[in-house]
Amino acid sequence: MPNQVYINGQLFAKEDAKVSVYDHGLLYGDGVFEGIRVYGGKVFLLEEHIERVYESAKAIRLEIPMSPEELSKATEDTVRANDIRDGYVRLVITRGAGSLGLDIRRTSNPQVIIIADTISLYPKELYEDGLQLVTASTIRNHPGALSPRIKSLNYLNNILAKIEATDAGTIEALMLNHKGEVAECTGDNIFIVKRGILLTPPKSAGILEGVTRNTVMELARKAGIAVEEAEMTRHDIFVADECFLTGTAAEVIPVVSLDGRAIGNGEPGPTTRKLLKLFRESTESV
Ligand code: PMP
Repeated sequence: MPNQVYINGQLFAKEDAKVSVYDHGLLYGDGVFEGIRVYGGKVFLLEEHIERVYESAKAIRLEIPMSPEELSKATEDTVRANDIRDGYVRLVITRGAGSLGLDIRRTSNPQVIIIADTISLYPKELYEDGLQLVTASTIRNHPGALSPRIKSLNYLNNILAKIEATDAGTIEALMLNHKGEVAECTGDNIFIVKRGILLTPPKSAGILEGVTRNTVMELARKAGIAVEEAEMTRHDIFVADECFLTGTAAEVIPVVSLDGRAIGNGEPGPTTRKLLKLFRESTESV
């Protein structure tokens, strides 16, 4: 059982791994995080995740009190200390403890937390049968208010949409942006296949730039599949040939319906299956 949690350079037993109730990460969701997979004892796409967490931190004017190289090494060391072969690592960087009030100058000592654990995955049969999606009435955060490109500790926007999914009996929900266009799901990016072309909303749609999204786009191009970033509406999904989601936890997972309407022939499509296979192979070859 994984039991060692890293906080600011030290490993603590799970039950002793604690931060202050005055931490602005808790009080205001003031901080950033990352979720990373471990396959065969190796931290998958570590550089990409490290880069994103530094970008998220910069966007909220949070200085991570160590270099990217040091954070990468700490991540790998924590995975090793917990003897994780296949699992998940969560990096959390909080603003640190301070007095009550929003002023970041009242805080000191950001907390760098690394939790290496096992992962709970989507049920295996969904990779064969495909997911059903509903459209959430909660729209994705307006990028001018809180950019979805920041992977911040403020996940309420996504949580509210996830509640809608749960209420509707599905495990993911489609989120539209403030313009009514398709953005992403609560914890996954979305792709469609139309006439052999792979399409996904652009960053400007107000999405998290998923590491898995970028990897799948690269794998597709290498396999000779045309890839385009394109604004899309729900209509494009209804009339798509195929649809799937990508995410660190989800990998590549087929979607077979949206709001009760079958996508394509209502079964996972060949391009989706091919990309899932290519993605799984890429996790084995790191
Ligand atoms: N969108 C959102 C809102 C997310 O939280 C995530 C990560 N769980 C993703 C997309 C997928 O990103 P990644 O492939 O980097 O995990």
